[in-house]
Amino acid sequence: MFHDSVVVITGGAQGIGRGVALAYAKSGAKVVIADIDLDKGKQFESELQELGCSSLFVQTDVSKEPDIVSLMKRTVNHFGKINILVNNAGTFQHASPYDLSMEDWNHIIQTNLSSVFFCSREAAKIMRHNENGGSIVSMASTRAMMSEPFTEAYAATKGGIVALTHALARSFGPDKITVNCISPGWIETGAYEDLRAIDHEQHLSGRVGMPEDIAQACLYLTNPTNNFVTGTNLTIDGGMTKKMMYEE
Ligand code: NAD
Repeated sequence: MFHDSVVVITGGAQGIGRGVALAYAKSGAKVVIADIDLDKGKQFESELQELGCSSLFVQTDVSKEPDIVSLMKRTVNHFGKINILVNNAGTFQHASPYDLSMEDWNHIIQTNLSSVFFCSREAAKIMRHNENGGSIVSMASTRAMMSEPFTEAYAATKGGIVALTHALARSFGPDKITVNCISPGWIETGAYEDLRAIDHEQHLSGRVGMPEDIAQACLYLTNPTNNFVTGTNLTIDGGMTKKMMYEE
């Protein structure tokens, strides 16, 4: 299904983004990894090439507009087009709202939210020339809907992504570009085997999530045969946001 597709994945050098990149590589896509981490990005580019995947690493800071413009230009110069964009790069910070500085607030907003708009804008300028348009998927979070203390900036970015998703779906619709987001719950990107029984059992699904769970959803949302799905937010959290949390 993805043999002729060029996919750009931000924050693709580790964690969920890496899992998403591997899934597209196994589906035959050409994969562009955009990440701020030069060492991990270069290493992953080589691993993908060893798997037989056409891949390109472009060191990118998604909080910087010139980096984003250059990422999309380099992708087109190398592969000739863009079919799919996965806005995955993100950062997290715990800070009391009494102490959070404007500098830290702006850093999270630029990295997690502004980046989604500017990457989508630049990718869509290229996608709209494709006969079949393209697809954009962005990583929101269940923290768009519910909170722990001291997560204001992060929560605001993820709520912003959900709103931006339906707004962009409306604007890019005439160009055959679908725009959706995913709200992951707990997706373990470290040592899955070190998780405790209680970590798994508290989920309705009986287990903590894995990057592969999110990758499957990306493949679904960007499959051209599913282009009736646009503007939506798909929650993938093992049912945690459907569980009553009142203490007994
Ligand atoms: P991670 O920290 O493991 O990986 C993030 C990647 O983004 C890293 O490779 C990092 O180098 C890159 N990155 C960070 N800042 C960047 C920048 N300015 N420019 C380019 N690349 C940058 O994170 P993850 O857990 O894999 O999360 C991926 C996405 O999913 C994030 O948007 C996150 O908010 C969201 N998410 C994750 C979970 C979870 O449980 N893991 C839950 C909900 C949402």
